[in-house]
Amino acid sequence: MFILTALPIQTVMMLLCLSVSSWTTDHQWGLVYSLPNAEHPLIKYGLMFIFLDFLDYVYHVTMHNVKAFWRFHLVHHSDQAVDVSTTVREHPGESFIRNCFLILWVFLTGASLEILLLRQLAQTTANLSSHSSIRLPPLAARVVGWLFITPNLHHVHHHFQLPATNRNYGDVFSLWDRLFGTFANLTLADTQFGLQTHMDGSIDARLLALMGHGRKLLAK
Ligand SMILES: [Zn+2]
Repeated sequence: MFILTALPIQTVMMLLCLSVSSWTTDHQWGLVYSLPNAEHPLIKYGLMFIFLDFLDYVYHVTMHNVKAFWRFHLVHHSDQAVDVSTTVREHPGESFIRNCFLILWVFLTGASLEILLLRQLAQTTANLSSHSSIRLPPLAARVVGWLFITPNLHHVHHHFQLPATNRNYGDVFSLWDRLFGTFANLTLADTQFGLQTHMDGSIDARLLALMGHGRKLLAK
């Protein structure tokens, strides 16, 4: 049901995003064109990929800290059984906001169609694996986690209590969490999925009730 509700929004906004990207390329508009050697693959693909990952970190922090946005994002967090299906557990309101941010990032940076495709591929792989219930063994988790967000690290973000919920915001790279002090580790034994304020799991079988999860937040 979440895929069905997100699909029309995702399709329309992705087409809009691709038009904006195509416009920025045609008009050489955006941050990337102000850099020296903008056409060099290391800048055009490498640096842009890293920068877009940083902007995804900014987006995720914003979703947690702006109350009007959190009411949508908390639907993703209220899952008490995190696995790959959690990846698509997204309120349609968040699908809309996420794509608005993406269009803004593309307009500001001048991201090309190629980098958007590359980014989408990496992001989908990272999101599916980070929500997976398969955790890496401790040594592999430590080594891979130096650079990437592993399932072990993203599980911390789905712990039901603060401050863990506000840790490990990263999408592909763990660098931003380390840089901005939002990095944390937690063992599986200490991790409990869900959200302290929304622990009624029976609501998961009722899509409309689930969509209204954040309503009481705005009423406050
Ligand atoms: Zn989150």
